[in-house]
Amino acid sequence: MAGSNVEQSEYNNTEYQRAYRHENSDKINEYRRKWLAEKGYPYRESGKEYERLHPTKAKARIILHNAVKEGIIKKPENCEECGKEGEVIGFRYDDNEPLDVLWVCRRCFYYKNKAKQEEVNEQRRYVG
Ligand SMILES: [Zn+2]
Repeated sequence: MAGSNVEQSEYNNTEYQRAYRHENSDKINEYRRKWLAEKGYPYRESGKEYERLHPTKAKARIILHNAVKEGIIKKPENCEECGKEGEVIGFRYDDNEPLDVLWVCRRCFYYKNKAKQEEVNEQRRYVG
């Protein structure tokens, strides 16, 4: 049937475009990461990219998410660092200990993360 041929080629075209976009998105991500690193901005990957780059971290996040959902871990309503009320995010010192978290507000999370990163950089400097 002529109709099915058209459908077939449209399908292939979509697949091709999807593949192309996917390839390109990697390039865009790469470019964006470099640009942000040069400017000293923190880089936030998209969900899939994040999982690929940080498998332990992504896994820890899922484990924690499930633990909260099942009520194993209770999310407080106040930041455990500064006491501010509102939305809190789990901050992990060690991604191998997914349930060992400190619940902090976005602001504290940012500073804690920065301090942790500096600590890691410091250790790297000593090693290499
Ligand atoms: Zn706080």
